[in-house]
Amino acid sequence: DSSSFYRDTWVEIDLDCIYQNVANMKSYLPNRVEVMAVVKANAYGHGDVEVAKTALEAGATYLAVAFLDEAISLRRGGIEAPILVLGASRPSDVVVAAENNIALTVFNKEWLAEAQQLYKGNKSVLFHLKLDTGMGRLGVKDKAELLSILEAIDHYPYFELEGVFTHFATADEIDTSYFEEQYHSFLQMLEWMPLKPKMIHCGNSATGLRFPDMVFNAVRLGIGMYGMTPSLEIKDQLPYELHEAFSFHSRLVHVKQIAKGEKVSYGATFTADEDMWVGTVPVGYADGWIRKLQDTYVLVEGERCQIIGRVCMDQFMVRLPRKIPTGTKVTLIGGQNDEYIHVDDIAKSLDTINYEITCTISFRVPRIFL
Ligand code: PLP
Repeated sequence: DSSSFYRDTWVEIDLDCIYQNVANMKSYLPNRVEVMAVVKANAYGHGDVEVAKTALEAGATYLAVAFLDEAISLRRGGIEAPILVLGASRPSDVVVAAENNIALTVFNKEWLAEAQQLYKGNKSVLFHLKLDTGMGRLGVKDKAELLSILEAIDHYPYFELEGVFTHFATADEIDTSYFEEQYHSFLQMLEWMPLKPKMIHCGNSATGLRFPDMVFNAVRLGIGMYGMTPSLEIKDQLPYELHEAFSFHSRLVHVKQIAKGEKVSYGATFTADEDMWVGTVPVGYADGWIRKLQDTYVLVEGERCQIIGRVCMDQFMVRLPRKIPTGTKVTLIGGQNDEYIHVDDIAKSLDTINYEITCTISFRVPRIFL
């Protein structure tokens, strides 16, 4: 059974939270607006197929990933819903995209010419045209290039333009001036298009949550679907409550008392300042629990316990308040009794964003779906 595992460490994904978050977004948005569930990077570390299925049940109608491989992983998992690859593919990948009924992003006319040359099939391939309105990442900026892409697609029987989109750099910031500039560039570039495709989309989670009337007809919902805020600065402006789906747990595998003056872990950098109880947790930097998390806290029996000494590849040690039995649950992210460690707490400790935390808990850690 490929879903069995043999270690006392796991991530729990509460699919009811995912369901709620998608359903809430769907009912919050104007009726005509579709939810495109963004499940790239293995659904931000949550598990691509399970999240995709749940999102579709909750009302999402389209899926988005970064790379063609991720789209194929969904197809292999039995997902038949439409999928868009948001990132760049290779021109030769059009063949595989066609076979698997996967839509690709186009933003370059030379790329398109090469793809047309390489494609010998007779199945229709769908494209979404990416416009760069100020993110400076992928996308057409130039009117002449935009028009020649449209013309090339139009003249090629097997390629079809299904959508046009852009991406905002600052939709999660209180200051909306750059967002508005990008929005107006998008409007202007849409004016360049004599015929608009069926789908027009520009919104990520932050845009959908804050500006539901500015997203055209689909929102690309990522972080909000996982129940995390797009940024701390808009956290108290969210229109509905988000339910965090991700939690991370392990168990004490060794508990011992050490005497004042004794040392813990590599480099022997931690010295006990008194006789104390120490627990070993079988999670390390190879699981994505990186060395910078030394001195932060985990929950044991509902109490905060500090990580002492260096985090190793597969294990770290915590200071325990008393003798606690081996096998006791340790929560690295999530709740125990009245205490809660949010993904945002870990992100703050590491001076980064919540997105990066769930994405970097490695796949050595099995995911369990509730
Ligand atoms: N659209 C594009 C093009 C993206 O790259 C991403 C993710 O970064 C998203 C949508 C989803 O963004 P968010 O997770 O902030 O909702």
